Amino acid sequence: MHEHEALYIDGAWVRPVGGATLAVVSPDTEERIGTVPLAGESEVDAAVAAAGRALRSAEWGGLTPEARSGLLMAFAEELGKNVAQRAELTTIQNGMPITVATAAEGAGPVGILQYYAALGAAPAEERRPRLDGQGVTVVRKEPVGVVALVVPWNFPQVLTMFKLAPALAAGCAVVLKPSPETTLDALELAATAERAGLPAGVLNVISGGADIGEYLVTHPGVRKVAFTGSTPVGRKIGEACGRLLRPVTLELGGKSAAIVLDDADLAATVQGLATASLLNNGQTCYLSTRILAPRSRHDEVVAALSGLASALTVGDPLDPGTHIGPLVSDKQRRKVEEYVAVGRESGATLAAGGGRPGRDRGWYVQPTVFGGVDNGSRIAREEIFGPVLTVIPYGDVDEAVSIANDSDYGLGGTIWTSDVEKGLDVARRVETGSVGVNFYDLDLGAPFGGVKASGVGRELGPEGLAAYQQLKSVYLGQEISA
Ligand code: NAD
Repeated sequence: MHEHEALYIDGAWVRPVGGATLAVVSPDTEERIGTVPLAGESEVDAAVAAAGRALRSAEWGGLTPEARSGLLMAFAEELGKNVAQRAELTTIQNGMPITVATAAEGAGPVGILQYYAALGAAPAEERRPRLDGQGVTVVRKEPVGVVALVVPWNFPQVLTMFKLAPALAAGCAVVLKPSPETTLDALELAATAERAGLPAGVLNVISGGADIGEYLVTHPGVRKVAFTGSTPVGRKIGEACGRLLRPVTLELGGKSAAIVLDDADLAATVQGLATASLLNNGQTCYLSTRILAPRSRHDEVVAALSGLASALTVGDPLDPGTHIGPLVSDKQRRKVEEYVAVGRESGATLAAGGGRPGRDRGWYVQPTVFGGVDNGSRIAREEIFGPVLTVIPYGDVDEAVSIANDSDYGLGGTIWTSDVEKGLDVARRVETGSVGVNFYDLDLGAPFGGVKASGVGRELGPEGLAAYQQLKSVYLGQEISA
């Protein structure tokens, strides 16, 4: 049992005054696996105030970029010591297969933190001769200030680190609010930061749902918001930040397309789609869940995907042999099952799955494939966030690109072909923030994010660091020596 009584605020473990708690439930057994205390407004106030003090402190705000980088490297080293533990915490809370969790949630954050620790060591000031020749200007990259991080349950550790690492590398101080489903791993992250000697107030972890999230992102002491989650909530946060003129990064939902070109090796494509379209039980934002197949190969593609769906092992997410674990919650399973019902009624053909596997407990659904799907139907337009694939036939490549782009979303996508140059040509025409050719995997050194309803701004790469820096120009009428 993972019983917690305190949140991490101002470098200390603090019991919230309200006394309310939240049960953490296993999606595999449907039983309680832990308890966390719920933050109230006073804990949010305390966390934001502590972050503000850290920014003004000698121990954090006063550090040189090199010294700050050294602290972050120490944090990364400490994180490297509990890779297995953090991976397992994710799996028992959200059902992510343990092999995925070990790489993404356990090891992933360590690499991200090391990357940004190195980038953040660069000098924060640059001297530029003035264009008019009358002296120099010092251009400074300053931390944007106190940042509110609000993250979802699907990849809690790695999506937190997409924000936390560049924020800290820029010199900001943060208040993290994880999703109610995945608070345990966030508290472990805080304990790791404490062991690594991160100064008080630099990372604060509170808990709670929408109400406390809203209170945090609109708090007067917050200077930037970084959010990953659903598009409806992203719109609300974007509206609030617009009103407050508060910079905000929004990483939202998706409904990406896999364009299977007519020269694709189908066996290799389907093997690639097992990850590119179904990673983490279909609960990944960028997945290529609309499979666009040449009309002449449509039935072949549907048959191959159905073969994949029935070959995948559905079961206990802690078992390393599992490909598909349970969905995060009963609510999420009901949502996915409603979409399966909508798909059945839409005129599409249910080619595989559609039901529950024969397990007596746990929020499992079978990997499901629909063929002959119309891109105008709800199962092609709306984010399902479960292991449900829709195969949509197309005539020529122009039509494939136009179907791929005919979406409210614009997050990811993939092209499958035996000619990589041709794949790159098609990728250039896809209107999304990222596209993979014959595979899809994020590159920590390259920007990631969405267009249209998939979000605003970018994470990862040097661009991800710039999002936490504000620029200041100091005009000097004359050159100075130091
Ligand atoms: P969600 O939007 O319901 O919740 C996300 C977080 O926001 C949670 O911590 C939640 O408590 C908080 N929240 C909810 N309402 C809020 C409000 N009004 N103000 C402030 N905070 C609020 O999303 P979810 O169901 O936890 O996650 C699934 C969604 O996240 C999917 O739509 C998925 O596509 C998206 N996602 C996007 C990316 C990306 O990088 N683009 C990555 C992962 C997940």
